[in-house]
Amino acid sequence: MQVAEKAKRLKAEGRDIISFSIGVPNFLPGEHVYAAAREALARDSGQYGSNRGADLLLDAFLEHIGKLGLTGYGRVNVATGIGAKHVIYNLAEALLDEGDTIAFPTPYWTSYLDIAEIVNAKIELLPCPPEQDYKLTPAQLDAALASKPKVFLFNNPSNPTGMVYTREEIAALADVLVRHPDTWVITDDIYNRMVFDGVGYHNFVQARSELRDRVIFIDSLSKTYGMPGWRVGFMAGPEEVAQAVVTMNSNHITNIPEITTAAAIAALTGPQDVPMQKCAEFQAKRDQVMAALAQIPGIRCPRPQGAFYVFPDISVAYGKTHAPTGLALANDVDFCNALLEAKGVACVPGSAFGEPRAMRISYTCPTAQLAPGLQRIQEFFAELQ
Ligand code: PLP
Repeated sequence: MQVAEKAKRLKAEGRDIISFSIGVPNFLPGEHVYAAAREALARDSGQYGSNRGADLLLDAFLEHIGKLGLTGYGRVNVATGIGAKHVIYNLAEALLDEGDTIAFPTPYWTSYLDIAEIVNAKIELLPCPPEQDYKLTPAQLDAALASKPKVFLFNNPSNPTGMVYTREEIAALADVLVRHPDTWVITDDIYNRMVFDGVGYHNFVQARSELRDRVIFIDSLSKTYGMPGWRVGFMAGPEEVAQAVVTMNSNHITNIPEITTAAAIAALTGPQDVPMQKCAEFQAKRDQVMAALAQIPGIRCPRPQGAFYVFPDISVAYGKTHAPTGLALANDVDFCNALLEAKGVACVPGSAFGEPRAMRISYTCPTAQLAPGLQRIQEFFAELQ
């Protein structure tokens, strides 16, 4: 957000800025979503709704997760919230008492750290450096769970790395989870429909069905349907956990709004051409980013297979100076500031995600901006001394 603010300020000053910084889709939902919202507005009851979510929305979500291999769940197993962020926050409040440990891999999505801090949990970071493709290994997980953290929080596909775990990798991690029955597992899979190269999306419950009474699956409409501002998130998991989220809703928000609910049902049950088309577009953009980065000597970048992020290790630039501006690059923050100042390209320093050797490139920008932005990054590297 800080990078985005600075980019906005420079733009207002008349600079030509290309933003690779914000993780929001640059497309709108299909017309049927707006039509459903307008219809709901016309018949809006203006009354409170269900704390869990409207039955039709719960059913639409259940049908969606059924297609992901999460079968046998009923309305009692699911709950909605004001975006996945709110659902994760509710879960943190519900599952973690002060001093309880939450373990999650680094790089992590920034809000995990903040949410854990807000609920006064102890945080155990599991480092997944670029050398291991930013992925958690079964041995690492096994070692981390030996000390019985209350919650293990997982994210697949990943923000910020875009990495996607294969079926075999998920199965191997699921085997470890089975051996550690004292830990709740939250799996934030909101990018599950944005997976490339035919690797497919896989989850722990699909791999080992006995995990269903401990695994909490998180989903959202924000990224897939171009609906971040509509604020619709979901969870599916054990009945008592879903009930805890419903109780939290009852005391915080009461319900997600009726108009939003109608739009969400239309998104989930209507034509899926927007997300499918966007997924293909993102895969092509991923290829374009990777091809450009491959031409920069010294950059290491595991190949992402999902979401819309690339997370290159740029540490080869640290200790150097950007010759034309004289800006010294000691770390990722210096690097991103100098790149923005010198070339007008906004990326997010990796330290925001717990990996100071990298920076995040989000490629949701208009396609026409991608090539010039990448070229400026290449030029910037070429100008380092
Ligand atoms: N989880 C991850 C991994 C994300 O990247 C984001 C948004 O950036 C969220 C959750 C939040 O999603 P929502 O908009 O549904 O709150």
